[in-house]
Amino acid sequence: MALASALPNRPASHLFYQTRQRRPLVERAEGVWFWDSDGRRYLDGSSGAMVSNIGHSHPHVVEAMRRQIGKATFAYRLHFENEAAETLAAKLVGHLTGDLSRVFFVSGGSEAVESCLKLARQYAVATGQGSRYKVISRFPSYHGCTLGALAVTGYTALTAPFAPMMQEMPKIPAPTAYLDRDALTMEQRGLKYADLLEREILAQGPETVLAFIMEPVGGASTGALVAPDSYYGRVREICDRHGVLLIYDEVMSGAGRTGRFLGGDHWAARPDLVALSKGFAAGYSPLGAAVAPDRIVEPVLDAGGFLHGFTYAGNPLACAAGLAVLEVIENEGLVARAASRGDLLKSKLALLMERYPFIGDVRGKGLLLAFELVADRETMAPLEPSLNAHARLVERAFEQGLIVYSRRTRGGRAGDHILVCPPMVVSESEIDELMAMLTAALDAFAAELKLPAGR
Ligand code: PMP
Repeated sequence: MALASALPNRPASHLFYQTRQRRPLVERAEGVWFWDSDGRRYLDGSSGAMVSNIGHSHPHVVEAMRRQIGKATFAYRLHFENEAAETLAAKLVGHLTGDLSRVFFVSGGSEAVESCLKLARQYAVATGQGSRYKVISRFPSYHGCTLGALAVTGYTALTAPFAPMMQEMPKIPAPTAYLDRDALTMEQRGLKYADLLEREILAQGPETVLAFIMEPVGGASTGALVAPDSYYGRVREICDRHGVLLIYDEVMSGAGRTGRFLGGDHWAARPDLVALSKGFAAGYSPLGAAVAPDRIVEPVLDAGGFLHGFTYAGNPLACAAGLAVLEVIENEGLVARAASRGDLLKSKLALLMERYPFIGDVRGKGLLLAFELVADRETMAPLEPSLNAHARLVERAFEQGLIVYSRRTRGGRAGDHILVCPPMVVSESEIDELMAMLTAALDAFAAELKLPAGR
């Protein structure tokens, strides 16, 4: 089925997104499956954009939302508290380690990042550190599309037109140790990449640096990049040494997807602030959160309050959805399931390297997994950008009825990568179906680009 034939003859749309591209009309979704308006079935191999962690149309969440709709769908936070928001905040904190105990609700990932940045800044002002305003981040990275989150995003194609409208923020290279061909061990490379942060802090002047933001397990911009273990503790040490706050962007890696509740929980180092969204309400409602400890929130409240807040913050319906999602994650043991199903899927993806020499790396944790397409596995040289290889493979997969997510990292050293991140409820037989569709897509892709492929 070519994509064109999956696009019914529909009238011109008044809607627009990034481009003019049209897609099939979704009819319904259940578990890991979508059906379009022509009855075609698709396996959601990327949970949308790594969102639908508990699968689609889960009856527990649908029922909880129905109940909340019958009570109240909106109550403005300056007029009322609501039980769904209170209960969700308490339940979320129960899953967090370290001293993270205060929750600020928002409606999405960019808002969550933006809220962390502004809370960090107000904390600095409230504690006599008003000279601190620079937020160091990594290149490549993606932290959101609002101007503040975009300023810390390392993705030139997305940021360039807006440069004059944003405060320029310093970037350090992402820890792409798997691409290095030096004599260092992986753990030495981890320290080397972390030390770039200290060098940047010193170059900027520590008294001007507010925070460092990173994804503990990378998402779309790096293709599930995991740094060597040594990186995380060293980054924490450096931040402590210079009074710099450590912000973990867990918008994609949070809420269980990596096999721990937060992606950062795989290591001992603890962040000061965390941004959550996507899997947190798993697509049932727009919802996100900025999470912080008392030691950061209290000085800001003492100094007059947090000068920030969205109309929909703590929306009762969104929070009821988020609460029901967390209950499903707990009741069905989905964090452990993400770990075990992730191990299974990763081992199957790794086997693809035997058949397809153009797969250069398979990586990730839990069900936040990716593989990278290369021209040469030895040197890890990327495929020609003009081939648009990642997008072609995504379309070949779509033709098989498999949805996966891809990016080419522009400006960084990495090339095309494909994220394979099904919902955490994916069964073993559905993993087999996913792999069969992916293999057929890779065969078609290899034939199209005349790349070698074994049998
Ligand atoms: N941070 C990360 C790590 C993300 O992956 C995303 C979304 N891809 C965002 C922030 C922004 O989230 P949203 O699109 O919900 O605003």
